[in-house]
Amino acid sequence: MVENGDFVLPGEELGFSEELIAGRGTYEEDGRIYASNVGTLVIDMKERKMEVKPGTSVPPEPKVGDLVIGKIVDIKPQVAIVHVAKLEGVERGLPGAVTGVIRIANVRDSYVSDLEREFQVGDIVLAKIIRIERELQLTTVPKETGVIKSFCPDCNVGAEKVGRSQTLCPQCGKKRTGKLAASYGSGQV
Ligand SMILES: [Zn+2]
Repeated sequence: MVENGDFVLPGEELGFSEELIAGRGTYEEDGRIYASNVGTLVIDMKERKMEVKPGTSVPPEPKVGDLVIGKIVDIKPQVAIVHVAKLEGVERGLPGAVTGVIRIANVRDSYVSDLEREFQVGDIVLAKIIRIERELQLTTVPKETGVIKSFCPDCNVGAEKVGRSQTLCPQCGKKRTGKLAASYGSGQV
């Protein structure tokens, strides 16, 4: 028998209608309840009702103010290009390729003259959405945002944070600067 929280498919038998009410995403037939949607079964014992929530099949939609996680894929004089993979704290990835841009003015709260001193290709960044255009306009000014993981380009190992804006390769000792997030290396990626 199915349980609360199970992933169910249309036509799947969920229970008896004398015990529970057939709610949204379900239908009743010959005293039994069946799923009419793909989704997650929610059994509300207080209301004695069954529902199938399509929640898990709806892709997450980015909103202004959301934090996103992505990878720096290109650095131009005025912008860093980010392949946005997911919203922070949301298990499911975004549908398809979403591109984000971090303009040089939105990197940190002080003047930045050289974007290559802040980011390098391959860095994993946590950034906040400030505008949604054809691309997501991102900022790494807030303290909690910035690079959360970086790799030594020579050794391809994860670099350690050694200062507020510096990382060190544990293998070759190479140092670099960057706009690091307060939570750099805390292992959330
Ligand atoms: Zn190295």
